[in-house]
Amino acid sequence: MDTYKYVVLGGGLAGERTCDGIRRVDTAGSVALVAGEAHPPYQRPPLSKGSLTGRKGLARVSLQESSYYDDHGIDLITGVRAIAVSPDVHQVELADGRALGYQRLCLATGGVARRLPIPGTDLSGVYTLRTIGDADRIREAAGACESALVVGGSFIGSEAAASLAQLGLPVTMVFPETRLLERLAPEPLGLTLRAMFEARSVQVRPGTRPVRFEGAETVQRALLDDGSALDADLVVLGVGIDLGTGLAVDAGLEIGDRGAVIVDEFLCTSAPDIYAAGDIVSWPDPTFGTRLRVEHWDVARRQGLRAGRNMAGEEKPYTSLPYFFSDLFDLSFEVWGNLAAWDQTVLRGTLVRGTLEGGSFGYYYFDSGRMVGVLAAGRPDDERKPMQALVRARPRYDRIAERLRDESVDLTTL
Ligand SMILES: Cc1cc2nc3c(=O)[nH]c(=O)nc-3n(C[C@H](O)[C@H](O)[C@H](O)COP(=O)(O)OP(=O)(O)OC[C@H]3O[C@@H](n4cnc5c(N)ncnc54)[C@H](O)[C@@H]3O)c2cc1C
Repeated sequence: MDTYKYVVLGGGLAGERTCDGIRRVDTAGSVALVAGEAHPPYQRPPLSKGSLTGRKGLARVSLQESSYYDDHGIDLITGVRAIAVSPDVHQVELADGRALGYQRLCLATGGVARRLPIPGTDLSGVYTLRTIGDADRIREAAGACESALVVGGSFIGSEAAASLAQLGLPVTMVFPETRLLERLAPEPLGLTLRAMFEARSVQVRPGTRPVRFEGAETVQRALLDDGSALDADLVVLGVGIDLGTGLAVDAGLEIGDRGAVIVDEFLCTSAPDIYAAGDIVSWPDPTFGTRLRVEHWDVARRQGLRAGRNMAGEEKPYTSLPYFFSDLFDLSFEVWGNLAAWDQTVLRGTLVRGTLEGGSFGYYYFDSGRMVGVLAAGRPDDERKPMQALVRARPRYDRIAERLRDESVDLTTL
């Protein structure tokens, strides 16, 4: 059995950053990275954006040069999954029969895209979008198909629909919510997004779900719960992920309410030498005084780095403000904070219906009278830091709303 000082399970962003974090503190300790996929770690955000619209290839999304792992003394094990973790004997079992010993372990096993539990979901032409293989298959299918259906009105669905429309395909989106990005977008923004999608030939059908997909071998149509049928020879499902927490559950680690791996402020799990990072983690967030779990790039990146540094002996708490970004057509926006729940917003700047790229706005969100986050697009660069500082300070709505709305008030004075 090979024994390493550090073993990292999962070759996504969090796993790759964990290795980098370890190496920033400990340049000599042995490291193994077990990447379940056949590829070295790569970025997922481009998969629903540039990788679909034509900028293909692993090299474009790889997180590191191919020589990085050798150069940094990291044993990269691709195409093999870990199947068991034994915390008591500090050992990991791999699917190819190997066993790896560890002093410190990190779980960074992310998630897998969900399929819908309806008839026809396994027909060819029905895809999920999580891996580079998924993106390659969807792009190839899009070149030969006549019309696409995207199921899901959150990020993956919205980005996939925008990309397919940019390829010139007629696209229909269906989703059960009342508007696009419903959990995030206040009504005026939701309506504006819809106008933007419709102006680019995407048919948006909120409040609608597919009940079955039909076709001989390849999908040809979808039956919807409003009784209508829709022709589509390409279907993309953007309906969420199932967390890859099987190893953690079987190893007896503490698991939270929604199936996430519970970690402390140092990103350590309930087993002393096992850390965790990325999509699978529920961590105690100091800004909001509650546990958070976030499926976004920046959280995976920063948690991986922090977990790696802590594994190598630094032991500093994870305190980053949650952040993410999305690109829809020409609109790029950024979000800081925790928008899981909000009941009031303040708009600073202007929304431009149908042509959001002309808009410059920040939506400030409040829950029970306290600020919880901001969603910003097209704002001046020098507002980015004050926006984050404001969210961290969590001011009260009644003390700040009026001045926040007023464009002539310098954000730094708030
Ligand atoms: C198409 C797409 C677009 C996105 N766009 C954005 C965006 O614009 N902005 C944003 O903020 N976020 C975006 N995200 C989300 C972001 O990419 C994820 O939050 C991030 O990838 C999570 O990283 P992770 O390392 O925790 O998990 P993952 O990226 O899921 O990596 C986990 C890895 O672990 C492997 N693994 C699982 N189990 C095992 C095992 N037992 N043994 C070995 N390996 C295993 C998996 O195969 C996988 O490679 C997007 C995600 C997708 C899919």
